[in-house]
Amino acid sequence: MSEPQAEPIKPVVAVVGRPNVGKSMLVNRIIGRREAVVQDVPGVTRDRVSYDAIWNGREFVIVDTGGWAPDAKGLAAQIAEQAELAIAAADTVLFVVDASVGIQDVDEAVVQVLRRSKKPVVLAANKVDDARNEAEAAMMWNLGLGEPHPVSALHGRGSGDLLDALMEALPEAPLEADVELGGPRRVAIVGRPNVGKSSLLNKLAKQQRSVVDNVAGTTVDPVDELVEVAGTVYRFIDTAGIRRRVKEASGHEYYASLRTASAIERAEVCVVVIDAADPIADQDLRVLTMVEEAGKALVIAYNKWDLTDEERRRYLNREIEQDIRAFDWAPQVNISALTGRGVDKLSKAIEAALEGWETRISTGKLNAFLGRITAAHPHPVRGGKQSRILFGTQAHTSPPTFALFTSGQLDPGYVRFIKRRLREEFGFVGTPVHIEVRARE
Ligand code: GDP
Repeated sequence: MSEPQAEPIKPVVAVVGRPNVGKSMLVNRIIGRREAVVQDVPGVTRDRVSYDAIWNGREFVIVDTGGWAPDAKGLAAQIAEQAELAIAAADTVLFVVDASVGIQDVDEAVVQVLRRSKKPVVLAANKVDDARNEAEAAMMWNLGLGEPHPVSALHGRGSGDLLDALMEALPEAPLEADVELGGPRRVAIVGRPNVGKSSLLNKLAKQQRSVVDNVAGTTVDPVDELVEVAGTVYRFIDTAGIRRRVKEASGHEYYASLRTASAIERAEVCVVVIDAADPIADQDLRVLTMVEEAGKALVIAYNKWDLTDEERRRYLNREIEQDIRAFDWAPQVNISALTGRGVDKLSKAIEAALEGWETRISTGKLNAFLGRITAAHPHPVRGGKQSRILFGTQAHTSPPTFALFTSGQLDPGYVRFIKRRLREEFGFVGTPVHIEVRARE
């Protein structure tokens, strides 16, 4: 396993715009490559979409989203969708329009996506080949994205000023989409009725050395509790729901599951409690799936360990191998809320899961890894075509979410394979890993 945060992360600039505005030529201009000017024609497949670039000593990665072919959905929808995906992955967007033809419907569609994203945008009005065309560039103020920067990708005119503006719009450090607000970590204890959630909470609350009621700068929701576990204070979510001793009879199951869903939603990390003395039930798996789908960090606690004998444990291991295999990335602890056995290990497990949840892999490392595994295991050929991964970037942390730019769709099995290899390479203990595929045909 390698150290994920070792190298500095370069900010990512996505170049967005409809076909034929000159995106690729502008990218070539920016990365200082004059040879191999590629036609910005839909359907033209290029080998790469991302390039390392540098301007005034600042390094960044530039992603060219050109070359995606429009499909039956229609050009505007297609471009908007493509832009949306690229923008999600980027720190800053370079939006390219063609000043010589003015604003088109498709441009407007992209503008809407840009507005929603709230990412910094630099507007390039391309094909302004000489001073006489500057008035056309000025028309681009009408897009409502601020100052249009007139450029000629063909001649290089204006590209220095454009790059200066782009550097100004880059974040100092790449934007972290999910900045933590600080304060204690939010933990939800969830699981089906009677597995021992409330007993566990009581045990944790009793074991704390001091009662924490006013940690600086935190307001605690009345249904939450601050509890110190092994020296770290956590905010346990919706403990009122746990402490209320109404038995969740069948009629209330629906509400119990709503309550569980909302606790998971508010949490950063979930401790799913499973009764080790009882066979694993569908309802246990449902809760685990809810946590995974909500994209939260996960710890599995097998409770009532004091009630298990050797035979039960052997059987439990078989059940875990069969049913919990899909969650084998989660830290698992055996505990007894009754005796307190193993409860102290929870805090370590929670910390490990949160660390995995917030791991960020640099674009450079990710693409080196993708290059290696796709060379060794290329995507299978389907209908005479072979999809390739052109470029990948980690769009988010919490949970780690990867965007793969590909030529053609990827088989679900291949995506699972990539996910498994990502885990092997980078760890991602205790966290779901999401992969989004952005295919161009
Ligand atoms: P909840 O519905 O998930 O909150 O479960 P409770 O905490 O109410 O526990 C349900 C029952 O299991 C209670 O009778 C507890 O005393 C019992 N229980 C909980 N944890 C343990 C444990 O670790 N060992 C044993 N033997 N009993 C437990």
